[in-house]
Amino acid sequence: MTQPARTRIAPSPTGDPHVGTAYVAVFNKALAMQTGGQFVLRIEDTDRERSTAASEAAIFRSLAWLGLGWDEGPDVGGPHGPYRQSERLDIYHDHVKRMVDAGTAYPCFCTPDELAAMRQRQKEAKQPPRYDGTWRDAPKAKVDEWLRAGKPHVVRLRVPNEGSTTFTDEVRGAITFENANIDDQVLLKGDGFPTYHLANVVDDHLMGITHVIRAEEWISSVPKHVFIYDALGYPMPKLAHVPLLRNKDKSKISKRKNPVSIDWYTEKGYLPEAIVNFLALLGYSLESGEEIFDFATLVEQFSIDRINPSAAPVFNLEKLDWLNGEYVRAMSLDALAERILAFGYPADRADMLRRFLPIVQERIKTFDEVAPMTDFFFADPTDYDPELLVPKKCDRAFAREALRGFADRLPALDAAPTGADYEAAVDALATEREWKRGNVFMCLRVAVTGSKQTPPLVESMEILGRDAVARRLEHAITRLGETA
Ligand code: GLU
Repeated sequence: MTQPARTRIAPSPTGDPHVGTAYVAVFNKALAMQTGGQFVLRIEDTDRERSTAASEAAIFRSLAWLGLGWDEGPDVGGPHGPYRQSERLDIYHDHVKRMVDAGTAYPCFCTPDELAAMRQRQKEAKQPPRYDGTWRDAPKAKVDEWLRAGKPHVVRLRVPNEGSTTFTDEVRGAITFENANIDDQVLLKGDGFPTYHLANVVDDHLMGITHVIRAEEWISSVPKHVFIYDALGYPMPKLAHVPLLRNKDKSKISKRKNPVSIDWYTEKGYLPEAIVNFLALLGYSLESGEEIFDFATLVEQFSIDRINPSAAPVFNLEKLDWLNGEYVRAMSLDALAERILAFGYPADRADMLRRFLPIVQERIKTFDEVAPMTDFFFADPTDYDPELLVPKKCDRAFAREALRGFADRLPALDAAPTGADYEAAVDALATEREWKRGNVFMCLRVAVTGSKQTPPLVESMEILGRDAVARRLEHAITRLGETA
């Protein structure tokens, strides 16, 4: 029996809630659920300038909306809290002290100016920028004196200058780095806050994290983490780096080229379950090759070693639209109506919504399309360009005659005509006058709905009723007479 996995996501609360956070959350939560473990949400707010409470709240809200809830976190608590790094400073200070005492870390008193000058020298010598070790081997007496004097400083990791470091990635196998290429990383900043590297390692250990699944951009940080784990005598969790989400041009996903804020998807009216399916599909494939699957299926079938390390998943919105449409069409009408109302569709339009939904379900990709597509059910369209009433290669006279001809047939129809009745009337008119049926329909479509792209027309007319149709036809005929 597999051991219960404790997994986590560790977003920084800077800016909008990112789809990349949800992407890694999907796999971490799936593994925790599959093994009967826990999924932890830790807030990495060590960047004091950029972290905001609003951003943290947005992370909570958006992940909850996606159904990616957590077992432990700043809001729900848990046995390994606090789960916000800014509330754990004492813990980091203790760890840094242990490392400095053991000599695996050291204080560095270089000023920002000195560091800038160092960079400049390296640049001129065409060397990669890195800390040059000024304080690495400074005499203990001097260091102690400066510490006593309260001089501003950071604490750096003492990285071995020689040899290499190897770690195992569960997806990629062994990865080796030359130690000489690894900088003496800052662990504790001048403001007393830890850097990502220190806090991340300490917390993953103290929070009992067994598996870290995160994006591949963090691979280059791992060698530093290896040294920190070693220095503290902590065992490492299993690491799995999933492929980075990409723009169409294969660059790292960015907001210039893709909507990356989860809020955007919420506002457009995507279905959270479709988004989760889409995100899962970007990093994972089921053995069956099936593309449409729910989260429970992923939980059942997820296996770290099926993650494809060389994939370069393109964040393709058309694919998401397709998936979302599939979910919309798979829903019962009742369930769909509920979801559209919950999205914010006006409650006083609920009855009408239920009437037109059967003909609209086929056509919606996202819920924000519903209102504009169906406004014509509630108000006579009046502000369209009358030229729209004139089909291609036809003139205004034709449009007027077609609408007039159809309007004249209405009184003879049943008081509540069906779509089939309207259709038969169009057919009869087109045959009698030797007109193209499509042209007659185009005039009618614009007259009745105000637009060329609409739900199926005769069914819409059935819902609208004969009087509304007649009124709209008369309005259109008047409009056609206006200028011409
Ligand atoms: N705070 C990092 C982030 O913003 C966490 C990376 C990790 O999962 O280790 O994504």
